[in-house]
Amino acid sequence: MDFCLVYHEDYVAPLPDTHRFPMAKFGLLRDLLLKDNIVTFKDIHTPELPSLEDIGLVHDLDYIKGYCEGTLEYRVQRRIGLPWSAALARRTRIAVGGTILTAQLALKQGLACNTAGGTHHAFPDYGSGFCIFNDIAIACQILLEKGLVKKILIIDLDVHQGDGTAYIFRNDPRVFTFSMHCEANFPGKKQQSDWDIALPVGMDDDGYLQILGKHLPDLLSQVKPDLVFYDAGIDTHFGDRLGKLALTDRGIYRRERMVLTNCLTAGYPVATVIGGGYSKNMSSLVYLHSLLYRAAKEVYIN
Ligand SMILES: [Zn+2]
Repeated sequence: MDFCLVYHEDYVAPLPDTHRFPMAKFGLLRDLLLKDNIVTFKDIHTPELPSLEDIGLVHDLDYIKGYCEGTLEYRVQRRIGLPWSAALARRTRIAVGGTILTAQLALKQGLACNTAGGTHHAFPDYGSGFCIFNDIAIACQILLEKGLVKKILIIDLDVHQGDGTAYIFRNDPRVFTFSMHCEANFPGKKQQSDWDIALPVGMDDDGYLQILGKHLPDLLSQVKPDLVFYDAGIDTHFGDRLGKLALTDRGIYRRERMVLTNCLTAGYPVATVIGGGYSKNMSSLVYLHSLLYRAAKEVYIN
C-alpha cells in the first residue's frame, strides 16, 4: 500500500520571526520525511481549497467571511493569537482542505497523514489558541453529510484539551470526542468531551503510556468507528514551551505506535493531523513531529 502524505506548499505561511508559532516547521517536516525515505514524492497528495460552504458546515458565515477578508473585530482577531494576513487566511483554508483530503484518503487506504491540522480550539463563531477553523470538525461534517461514515472517533492527544471540537459535537452522537490532556493547561475553561482524561503536570512516559494503553482498546471497541481522527500534538514533550507534561522522544514514538497499532490491527482507518508543538529548537521540533510518520510507516507498510 502506498503511504498517503498530505502537504501543500502554502502550509508554510509567513509570520513575524518573533512569533512563537514557527510555521517553517511544516516545510522542514516534509523535507525531513523525504530525506529519511519515510515518504517519496509520489506519496505526497496536494489538497484543494475548500469552499466557504464546506467551512460553513461548522462555522458561522459572518466569522468565516470576517476572517477570510480580514475584517473581524479587533478582540475576535486578537483571541486567535496570530496576526492576520491574506497569506495566513489562505493557509488556514488550505490546511482544512488537507484534513478533508486526508480523511478521504484514509477511508480508501486505511491510513493517511496530513502535515498540518489539528486546530481544535476553534469554535463555530470564534477562534483561539492559534486555531481559526476547526479542520477535523469540518472534515467530520463533510464525511457524515456525504454518507461516507456513520460514526467517527476523534482521539485528541495534543497536550491541550480539544475544547472547540468537544463543543461542536456536544450533542452529536455520531462523533465521539476523546481528549487526553494536561489538566493545568490552556484552555482555562474546559469543555466536556465524550471522554476526557486530565493528566497532572509533569507526567512522564510510563505514567502516560500506561493510562493510554489501558483505555485505548476499550475506547475503540465501545465506539466502533468507521474512521478515527488522530490529533498527534507533540506539545506533550518535556522540552515544549506550552506543554507541562514530560514525555521524551522515545515516549512520543511509543505513543504514536500504540495509537496506530491499536486502530489499524482492529481494522479502523486512521486520518492523522499534526497538532501542536512549540519547542524552541526547530530541528528537535521537526524531528518530534516526524515520529508519527515514522511510526505510521512501520505499522502500516511493514
Ligand atoms: Zn496543543
